[in-house]
Amino acid sequence: MPHPETWLKVLPAGLFCEPGGFFIDPLRPVDRAVITHGHSDHARAGHRAVLATADTLAVMRARLSEGGAGVSQQALGWHEQVTLGGVKIWLSPAGHVLGSAQVAMEYQGSRAVVSGDYKRTADPTCAGFEPVPCDVFVTEATFALPVFVHPPPAHEIAKLLDSVALFPERTHVVGCYALGKCQRVIALLRQAGWDQPIWLHGALVSMCEVYRQRGIDLGDLRPATVAAKASLIGAIVLAPPGAIADRWARRLEDPVVALASGWMRVRQRAKSRGVELPLVISDHADWAELNATLDDVGAPEVWVTHGREEALIHAAAQRGIRGRALRLLGYGDEDETEMVSDG
Ligand SMILES: [Zn+2]
Ligand SMILES: [Zn+2]
Repeated sequence: MPHPETWLKVLPAGLFCEPGGFFIDPLRPVDRAVITHGHSDHARAGHRAVLATADTLAVMRARLSEGGAGVSQQALGWHEQVTLGGVKIWLSPAGHVLGSAQVAMEYQGSRAVVSGDYKRTADPTCAGFEPVPCDVFVTEATFALPVFVHPPPAHEIAKLLDSVALFPERTHVVGCYALGKCQRVIALLRQAGWDQPIWLHGALVSMCEVYRQRGIDLGDLRPATVAAKASLIGAIVLAPPGAIADRWARRLEDPVVALASGWMRVRQRAKSRGVELPLVISDHADWAELNATLDDVGAPEVWVTHGREEALIHAAAQRGIRGRALRLLGYGDEDETEMVSDG
């Protein structure tokens, strides 16, 4: 049985399955790519053939320029198998954003799973993470430090609604990135009983439309850009993280600036971003979830793509799991990468 490191290689363009002839979330244009999810650091433009879930392909078509989402696109349903060069491939839900998948590969009896970004907390806008037993588990480590504990999201949404009730004369503006976090915050607000219109910065509109077309009901959404300032008093407005502390937000009525991010656990980050109301809502696994996942998949070996790899590898070693830091450059946290692109 060949060890996965003989057939799943780390190349400058990313993880490459050699017998299958495909890259996973490649960092530059390639002939054949398997894409875990639609965030810009994973789903880049210009590949020739792209294999992904139908939801991820829809996200890619909406985000990337015409043809940028792959000259030929193949959608795979959950657990549907294809074989490329003797490698059996299937996709299992990763619970990160709409369409997000783990890539499971089996070659000559050994199995590797590339989880992409993932979380274990239930999310009304996407299918929940399913652990896939494997020989090598490839994981992210964005929040791999014991200090990162994501509270129940309903608790954070209650904080937001309490603040809205307390300051009815102000406008609450919540920073959230465009793919995933935005729609999750909306769905959580709906679950908490907020049935008023939710107002959107222009940069968030098109992805909400993709979610709606893919069957995720988000209720009454309205563009905040054309709304009169007065009609936003007492309202909840969502905007990209880069817009909450700039001119755009300042034209709102005495805004309460909130930001939904796993980084809001770090007081300093909230302060430096001018965030009055930090909401610890993350689409990544926290420390406990990362460790529970290593136990659930039962792999004797874990490869860490990016993030706080040392801490996770250390914790894995204590349980007899061999760790390897891949140090893949080019993957980042959405809150950070989208902040840069939004200026
Ligand atoms: Zn992501
Ligand atoms: Zn990522």
